[in-house]
Amino acid sequence: MRQRESLQIAIDGPAGAGKSTVAKIVAQRLNLFYVDTGAMYRAIAYKALKNGASIEDELSVSQIAQSTEVVLDHSDEGIVWCDGENVTEAIRCPEISRAVSTVAAYPGVRERLVELQRLEGSRGGVVMDGRDIGTHVLPEADIKIFLTATPEERAKRRWAELSHAGKDISLEEVTRDMQRRDRMDTEREVSPLKPARDGIVLDTTGLSVEEIVAKIVALA
Ligand code: C5P
Repeated sequence: MRQRESLQIAIDGPAGAGKSTVAKIVAQRLNLFYVDTGAMYRAIAYKALKNGASIEDELSVSQIAQSTEVVLDHSDEGIVWCDGENVTEAIRCPEISRAVSTVAAYPGVRERLVELQRLEGSRGGVVMDGRDIGTHVLPEADIKIFLTATPEERAKRRWAELSHAGKDISLEEVTRDMQRRDRMDTEREVSPLKPARDGIVLDTTGLSVEEIVAKIVALA
């Protein structure tokens, strides 16, 4: 295992498994960078929709990904910049959630973002969350976690998060969108969502955030 300050921790899993909440706290506790790779895919979906591109148009969306600058700020606010625009809030809306998995299945989009993610990973110790971090982006990561929970619990968590942020959306809609997204992420050809062969699967159903964080910190 690497020295503490250059540790690489990969946290993958389906939507609503608690990845970002947990990854952020683990990064703070261990004094590592936190990299939210889902935010990068969301930023590309945002830019494509803003440009009026059809999400189904693979070539246009891939070209947009090649020419878009996505920057994650590593302060506590975790601001996401897309071509100089602060899109932190905008990328969390249901419209982006519905479009993002289509965009994320395009090899041209993934190639560009994986390059940026590896660059982030080379800047020092990192906790990176996503779908393919342990399997593809950082295959040499020191710790690879696959967080999961029952579909019901994941949908409830995501719905509570969105409601708390003032978004008017029903639990049924969240459940439907989440199932569709997980299916697309699992079934796509390039870097599908799956646990790394040398990863640890952690079922978080019924566990508190603090319990999950403690397990990962103990591994580190
Ligand atoms: O993590 P979050 O739910 O914000 O991710 C949004 C979407 O981005 C996922 O549903 C998936 O389609 C895509 N994604 C991905 N690979 C990653 C991170 C996210 O394909 N490493």
